Amino acid sequence: MTDNSTHATGAWQSRYESDLVSTFATPPLLLDHGQGAWVWDSDGNKYLDFLGGIAVNSLGHAHPVLIEAVTRQISLAAHVSNLFASAPQLELAERLKRLTGAGDAGRVFFANSGTEANEAAFKLARLNRGANGEKTRIIALQNGFHGRTMGALALTGKAYMRDPFQPMIAGVEHIPATIEALEAAVDGTVAALFVEPLQGEAGVIELPEGFIARARELTAQHGALLIVDEVQTGAGRTGDWFGFQHEGITPDAITLAKGMAGGVPIGALVTFGAASALFHRGQHGTTFGGNPLATAAANAVLGEIEASGLVENARARGEQLKSIIAGFGSPLIAGTRGRGLLIGIALATPVAEALVAAARAQGLIINATGPDSIRLAPPLVIGDIELDEFRTRFGAALAEVAASAAAVTA
Ligand SMILES: *Cc1c(COP(=O)(O)O)cnc(C)c1O
Repeated sequence: MTDNSTHATGAWQSRYESDLVSTFATPPLLLDHGQGAWVWDSDGNKYLDFLGGIAVNSLGHAHPVLIEAVTRQISLAAHVSNLFASAPQLELAERLKRLTGAGDAGRVFFANSGTEANEAAFKLARLNRGANGEKTRIIALQNGFHGRTMGALALTGKAYMRDPFQPMIAGVEHIPATIEALEAAVDGTVAALFVEPLQGEAGVIELPEGFIARARELTAQHGALLIVDEVQTGAGRTGDWFGFQHEGITPDAITLAKGMAGGVPIGALVTFGAASALFHRGQHGTTFGGNPLATAAANAVLGEIEASGLVENARARGEQLKSIIAGFGSPLIAGTRGRGLLIGIALATPVAEALVAAARAQGLIINATGPDSIRLAPPLVIGDIELDEFRTRFGAALAEVAASAAAVTA
């Protein structure tokens, strides 16, 4: 690999710092283009992309099916507003009702991002008031992530994200992800419970066995909505179409975004059964949401996932990836979490940043979700070649970080 260290003083980085709001760390690379699971930076260096734009690039980069669909649709009509319907929007709503199992009673609201999908879900929760307006509480999980706009932020279970923006929207309580806490919290005053099938941003953290099933029982018993945030886990990522399907339950609503349209911004709220009757005309809206361009892109991506068996591929490749990681036998690795191609690697020591940098120098893009946690979310299209390349590149990065950790200890 070419040494990327020159990038540390790259002219584009000072432009980034002087031109963009400093909400993000200055990026280490300026990416130019991609192909499948590979991306190239502005110096022509090639990287294996095992982050996929944070679980967004389901088909990898520059997939011909997505190119064709977006090119075709933008040459017809990119946008018509929600004062008018479009064929791609209708097709996508029907597709989501079928894939989620929401069926005839399902309804779809389209948005442009995960956080917006959760804003719609938050408003849905507020509409579940109970006969005497007694349902005033919304329950979410500590360490959960639901987005950065004010409603979704109130749901997000990370105090450091919420605190600078107090006061939060009222009524949300965060409980630990334990069945005991769930049983203590859910009663007739609860309008909704929000839960991620796997806590992606927290480091691909799994919920306790039986948590979602118990959540379904309790919410059904007390008339609370069970709203599953599938923004990261949806669209085949976990080796099921949606994470809730792994639990064998039917939610009242799910939210979707990241992997759904392969990089074209979109979000969706899908309601099931009686929850589909809560929203009425004029109670929510959006200018861009559900436009023909984004929905055509999602139809292409979801259609390709279905046609090429990529849900099954995610499951099989995820298993292989976990055994590759176990096979390193590295003292740095404490274990793996997650399902399908959403994998968290638990590190034995807080070397995540060093490992990400070492991997990048080996031509591999991975992500640190915390000091001792790595996230992998490669495109669902990866095969033997990409797994072999991962083994080589990640193995070399691990060895390098292990050697320098040993040198420090010595
Ligand atoms: C990424 C994410 C969001 C927020 O999505 P944005 O498109 O970044 O607004 C919400 N919920 C979950 C579970 C996510 O992973």
